[in-house]
Amino acid sequence: MDFKQIISHCKEYGFIFPSSEIYDGLSATYDYGPNGVELKNNIKSYWWKSMVQMHQNIVGLDAAIFMHPKTWKASGHVDAFNDPLVDNKDSKKRYRADVLVEDFMAKIEGKINKDVAKAKKKFGDAFNEEEFRSTNGRVIERQKKHDEIGSKLATRMSDGDMEGLKSLIEELEIACPISGSKNWTDVRQFNLMFSTQLGNVAGEEGKLYLRPETAQGIFVNFLNVQKSTRQKLPFGIAQIGKAFRNEIVARQFIFRMREFEQMEMQYFIKPGTEMKWFDYWKQTRLDWHKALGTPAEKLRFHDHENLAHYANAATDIQFEFPFGFKELEGIHSRTDFDLKSHQELSGKKLQFFDPEMNESYVPYVLETSVGCDRMFLTQISNALQEETVPDKDGKESTRTVLKLNPAIAPVKCAVLPLVKNKEEITKAATDVFDKIKGSVLCQYDEKDAIGRRYRRQDAIGTPYCVTVDFDSLEDNCVTIRDRDTLTQERVPIDKIQSIVADKVDMNKLL
Ligand code: ATP
Repeated sequence: MDFKQIISHCKEYGFIFPSSEIYDGLSATYDYGPNGVELKNNIKSYWWKSMVQMHQNIVGLDAAIFMHPKTWKASGHVDAFNDPLVDNKDSKKRYRADVLVEDFMAKIEGKINKDVAKAKKKFGDAFNEEEFRSTNGRVIERQKKHDEIGSKLATRMSDGDMEGLKSLIEELEIACPISGSKNWTDVRQFNLMFSTQLGNVAGEEGKLYLRPETAQGIFVNFLNVQKSTRQKLPFGIAQIGKAFRNEIVARQFIFRMREFEQMEMQYFIKPGTEMKWFDYWKQTRLDWHKALGTPAEKLRFHDHENLAHYANAATDIQFEFPFGFKELEGIHSRTDFDLKSHQELSGKKLQFFDPEMNESYVPYVLETSVGCDRMFLTQISNALQEETVPDKDGKESTRTVLKLNPAIAPVKCAVLPLVKNKEEITKAATDVFDKIKGSVLCQYDEKDAIGRRYRRQDAIGTPYCVTVDFDSLEDNCVTIRDRDTLTQERVPIDKIQSIVADKVDMNKLL
């Protein structure tokens, strides 16, 4: 399904609504509806269980969103959490200067790919792409230009050279995609943190930030957690919570929002062991995605070439979203950067006493950070399908089905009386519903023909439908229908609760 269909399905079936829609919405802000909140909670639960329940040496935390302003000085966010901003004076539209240049480079790449495709068509089987790319004059010239721009962009970005970025935009004669004009303002650094003001303190002193990442709540609590849980290295602290970034250009639905949720785990380790743990967490996190059923070919690693100021190794797990491969999760070796900075600015020791070495040191940190909303988008975009299925009269019909892993599906089971005007049947169905509702989220639905009720459940990803019919009154059995295989099985009513609970058991994924 294409991206537009995914977005409209999310709205129609109560997964995601634009925020404050009656006022025409607020850009890049979304609300999770009744089915959305269930799916999101299940994703969070899958992450939490795999981290906290499955590891004796990983514990949880729920730190406040507001933190002492010095936190953000120490972490480097006040000085360096910036994007280069540029405005077009005619259209009054804002852009990220680096993205304008990247889009320009993508156009050159597109032209190269077109040349390659043309040649491939012309030469057929005899075509050698590598040779063509390295010998064709036009392609070589374009590639050279592309690479030169790329290296200029990288240096100017890492030098924080805003004038250089502006002259690059002018040199390339980049025009505003909306007005077509090349009338740009100067490029300036734009800090991505949202700020607000404490009620009882005036001026700069009272300036607070909404956290742009959850990680710092973990770092400042490192000793509290270590001492209260008596953990030894290596150990981890896991946290799920909201983060806020004033993204200059926020688009692509819930992929890039200004208010979003992160699931982060900081693993405190002995200095020098970081590459071992980097490899371990890379693999463990990739396996976590695959265990949920995300196809391996839609996931890949993307190692960082330009490392952030705090990292000595970093990789992204990318997913093939409907708009291409993009970052889903970051795995970063953060060294002792954060703990050391907090130690210096706070004057409080943030060290671990290692009994084996008989010395204290600041631990290194290995971080895994996955966006909850991006995770949601991977599952919806992967699961939403339109398919042809056999009808009851032997004909074919199409259905829209959300093939989510049963363990994270919003509603696990729907109980459907075959008819609604026979009291014995609706009574028996209500009894079945009451049996199941205490263990998994279940829906009772008696409205419309059975086929339409099945389709409604397919569209929200309900893995099992249980039908109560006339025979049920005699044999004390019900029919359970599987969303994906469409097979129907007759099972005893007194076993239905345990059958459903077993089929959707999340612990089987761990
Ligand atoms: P990007 O390069 O896409 O801006 P990032 O490298 O800044 O992402 P990190 O700081 O590593 O992202 O944050 C960790 C995770 O948080 C990301 O992998 C992503 O899943 C999620 N995330 C970051 N920014 C946003 C956002 N604006 N909206 C939704 N999720 C986000």
